This record gives sequence, structure tokens and C-alpha cells, in this order.
Amino acid sequence: MHALVELRSEGLYCPLGDFYIDPWRPVQRAVITHAHADHARSGHQHYLAHSDAADIMRTRLGRKLSLQLLKYGERLKLGEIELSLHPAGHVLGSSQVRLSHKGNVWVISGDYRVQADASCEAFEPVLCDVFVTESTFALPIYRWEPQAQVIDQISAWWQNNAANGLYSVLYTYALGKAQRLAMALPEGPVWVHPAVDAMHHCYRLAGRKIPASPCWDSNHKPPAGSLILAPPASAASAVFSKLGAYEDASVSGWMRLRGIRRRRALDRGFVISDHADWPGLLWAVRETGAQSVFVTHGQVDVLVRYLNEQGFEAAPLRATAWGEDAS
Ligand SMILES: [Zn+2]
Ligand SMILES: [Zn+2]
Repeated sequence: MHALVELRSEGLYCPLGDFYIDPWRPVQRAVITHAHADHARSGHQHYLAHSDAADIMRTRLGRKLSLQLLKYGERLKLGEIELSLHPAGHVLGSSQVRLSHKGNVWVISGDYRVQADASCEAFEPVLCDVFVTESTFALPIYRWEPQAQVIDQISAWWQNNAANGLYSVLYTYALGKAQRLAMALPEGPVWVHPAVDAMHHCYRLAGRKIPASPCWDSNHKPPAGSLILAPPASAASAVFSKLGAYEDASVSGWMRLRGIRRRRALDRGFVISDHADWPGLLWAVRETGAQSVFVTHGQVDVLVRYLNEQGFEAAPLRATAWGEDAS
């Protein structure tokens, strides 16, 4: 049986199809699992992605992108490989990549989330012989509370701040998490930073029902007590000094770790992630029916050891260039 993917200095390569998946160096043909910056990089000749990701990719990488689009389950022949994309439930248009060659099936998960919500297609397990899984939160301490429970915590925090005449600033990834929050939070309205506004726009173009949310820019200042969704990179930037008194908090799987909350000097942290937690990862691996599992992107050694103990043939697939993951 052929190995359908291998790691090269440019990224994960499929020799029988002559393409890369989420490469980090410029290549001829890049299959993109989703539009987060560490997966969808600029500089490739040709891109292939799910059609729901099209506007996000063009917004982030340029309008003139050479971009081929597929729907979920649609099959495409590339060299000797039959390729299809399947929902990863991570962000809008996020895909697992299924590769098939003479009955040998590999699935490259990209980033995935098994807790479904209305912001994107829900994760779908895909049967395969070999599963390549991420492991961002592959430690037993990572167990996500139901989203509704965390949303209640955020609402209570917001109300309390508003009662004290303070703004509430929530740092959240502009792509994915921000739309999840926008759809789940009670009517506010919830204000957004321009970076979030741009991604909200892409989601609406793809038919997702993101509630109306005024954009906080130089012409429009939110009324006191408002909640504002802003990207983490904007934290402590000059714009906030013009806002007035505010409380801030991050929404991220990393907020599970008290040390990280403290280091980032946040008032609060809320745990919502666009990745699978420990039980979610194990469930997803089992659902694929794969005997062989390659682990990448996170707590590789922990998950490899655990899966081997459970009778899988698991091994690391090192990909340090992907770096610390968003959300
Ligand atoms: Zn991602
Ligand atoms: Zn990632």
C-alpha cells in the first residue's frame, strides 16, 4: 500500500496526486482545509478549497487568487488520486480531505470540532484506512462545557459590566469563533471590530444568518455598556484607549489554563474552542474505523501513546511549521 501523503519541507505532500495540503511554503498546487492564516498561506500558484471558504480566502489572500472550488462529497481526480472534501465542523468551509487510491483511503482532518453549531456544517466522520488527526487539545484536562453554558457565563459577565457602566471587550478569532459567538449571544446589539466585520460579511454571503452587528470604527462609537468582539491582535492597541473604561476577556480553548489567563493579564477567560476536546478527538478517531493514525499539530506524543495503548497503530507526523494553533 502506498503512503498517500508524506512530509516535505514545503508541507504535507501527496506524491500520487502531485499536490500539497495546507503547505507553508509556496507550491504549484495547494489543497486548503480552511482559511485560518496558518493553513491558508499566500504565494501558491493554484488553490483548491470548499466553495463556502471562497469569499474568506479571496478577502484574506487577494481577489485574483487562482481558486478551484469543490462542494462537500464532490469527487475530483488529481493524478492517480480521487480527492473529495468533507465537513470538519471547525469554521465555515473547513474540510477534511479524503484521498483514495485503488481502495486505499486516507483522510487528512485539518483542524476539526465535533461540537456542532449553526455557524458551519457539522463534522462528519469519514471511513478510512489511515486517519491524519490534529491534536491541539489532546490532553485529558481538555473537556469542553456545552456552548450554551459558556454563553450564559459570558452574558452574565456582560450584564454585570454594563450595570457598572463598563464596556465588555471579548477577544476572539475573527474567523470562526466570532461568528459562533455572534449567533449564540443574546441580542445586544453586539458590536464588532472591522476585522470581525469583514468575516461576518463573508459568512452572510455564504448564507449564514449572522445577526446585524454595528461596526466600531472612527465614525461609530458603541454606547456605554456595549459588548464588542475584537481579534486578539487588537488587545492593548491604541483604539481601546479612546473607548473608555472596559473589562476584557478572551474566548479560547487555551483559557482552560489559568496560567495563560494570568500571563495575558485578562480580567476573565471563557472556554469555547473550535477544536475537538480530548473525548471529541478519541470519538472522531474511532468513528473513522482507521487502524492506522498519524498525529500532528499539537500534543502529538500524548495522543500517539494513548492510541497505541488502545490498539491503534499510531505515529507522529511532525509539522512544527504550523505553529501554535488559533482558537
Ligand atoms: Zn484552524
Ligand atoms: Zn490549525
